[in-house]
Amino acid sequence: MEFTRVKNFINGEWVEDPKATYIPLHNPSTGEVIGEVPMSSTEASIDAVKAADAAFPAWKNLSIGKRVGYLFALRQAMLDHQEELAVAIATDQAKHISEARGEVMRVVQIFEAACSIPTLMQGETLGNIANGINGRVTKEPLGVFGGVAPFNFPALVFGWFIPYAIGTGNTFVYKPSNESPLFMQIIGDIFNEVGLPKGVVNIIHGDPNVVEAWYDRPEVAGVCLVGSSPTAKAIAQGCGKNGKRSMLLGGAKNFLVVMEDANMDVFIENFIHSAYGSAGQRCLAGSIIAVVPEVYDECIERMVEASKKVTVGDAMDPDIYMGPVITKAAKERIEKYIELGIEGGSNLVLDGRSPELPEKNKDGYFVGPTIFTDVTPCRTIAKEEIFGPVVSVMKINDLNDVLGLIKEQEFGNGACIFTQNQYYTEKFIADANVGMVGVNVGVCAPHPYLPFGGIKDSLVGTNKVQGKDGIEFFTQNKVATIRVTPPEGVAECGTRVDGDKSVRSCVAQ
Ligand code: NAD
Repeated sequence: MEFTRVKNFINGEWVEDPKATYIPLHNPSTGEVIGEVPMSSTEASIDAVKAADAAFPAWKNLSIGKRVGYLFALRQAMLDHQEELAVAIATDQAKHISEARGEVMRVVQIFEAACSIPTLMQGETLGNIANGINGRVTKEPLGVFGGVAPFNFPALVFGWFIPYAIGTGNTFVYKPSNESPLFMQIIGDIFNEVGLPKGVVNIIHGDPNVVEAWYDRPEVAGVCLVGSSPTAKAIAQGCGKNGKRSMLLGGAKNFLVVMEDANMDVFIENFIHSAYGSAGQRCLAGSIIAVVPEVYDECIERMVEASKKVTVGDAMDPDIYMGPVITKAAKERIEKYIELGIEGGSNLVLDGRSPELPEKNKDGYFVGPTIFTDVTPCRTIAKEEIFGPVVSVMKINDLNDVLGLIKEQEFGNGACIFTQNQYYTEKFIADANVGMVGVNVGVCAPHPYLPFGGIKDSLVGTNKVQGKDGIEFFTQNKVATIRVTPPEGVAECGTRVDGDKSVRSCVAQ
């Protein structure tokens, strides 16, 4: 693959920041250096904000139909470039190519949902509040928004932020993850291909300093993040001190609950997808498998048998199920958790350290499927986000028992139950202390038309992404109280009072 020197995209141009230092970009499947990413200066970040601010008045005043026209054009351009976009994701993020294609298609669907903005953004009117007085609420854009992405969903998070932000009339500065910037390098070209006005979306790469530069800028209305909970809390503080809006999705640790009446074939298929899809680096990945005693042994036996069939290797290899984790440091962190699990007394029944690999992937960052059993809730591996293909199996007494454990968790992103029983289903939906619930599914990601987000440490603040929640975050309500009085010389009924009946006012009689 060609070496890529990643650039910033400011005011419709690819630019290099003369003050930037560069860090290497790796292909996690091979460990090979495939490019370099600028750690931009504060000045470059402010340039991006200024470009977005300069573009705001004209963009805000463009008719909503024309703005949505750009969303349609971007959707079509992503379809036209879908394979190129998927390969970019499978290269630097090393999500398996089949999943990378799925991620691109999900973003296309999000753009389709966001094209309903003219309906979703409609305000309200209350007539005749008092004699001759009406009230009207309009939803207005606020200005420039900043967005910060995690490494694991370079396309999806772009979809969560950008169409809703710009469709409602705001302009944007977007900071991709330094570990997966290639997707946005293609998207910048797509912005120019569809003729998106310059400065409406800008891309800046770098360390936290480029985000911190936004907090004191009066042009910036708010910042959104998808990332870990400590990062979400840091951005909440930065925005809070200057009264800016924030939409901050944080980390996760998700339960999959298996009841005695679960369809075991359905559970196993969904467990494999949930625990090992994206090499376990998903905020809705199943991490704790909580099983009632009646099916505990059977469940473990089937999980281990199925996990041993999960093939590990190059993200571009169509015959492989699971690619690598993102960095050497991530691999070492995950392996440290495996050691902690052993030291803590949990039972390692499948060890993913040193998986068998093809020769070309020997220097890649791989961890194979790993299963601990007899894990108790107080163990580190049961509490902390591992963010890799490592699962902890826990024996629970009954549904009430696991609902208590879910409630105690610091995270509250998602939880899924496997059962055929309607009482269990409804009780779980009602009482699981999380933001997203699944029944007989392993990844409870809401459809693009519905809000996506957790509770507790998985969501700092209250705003979620997608659907009406996206509209609420990126707009402010303006409320007008309107008394319409006739101009001088015109009666309430609209007739001119000078007696000349041949001259009418424009008000219908
Ligand atoms: P991260 O928090 O390390 O980084 C996320 C982004 O924030 C990166 O672009 C990074 O450069 C930037 N950043 C880091 N520290 C910052 C700071 N102090 N101020 C401003 N910006 C800062 O997360 P990651 O490792 O890239 O992604 C994995 C995390 O994201 C996991 O915790 C995962 O659960 C979470 N995630 C959550 C969801 C969700 O929907 N809740 C979805 C995807 C990922």
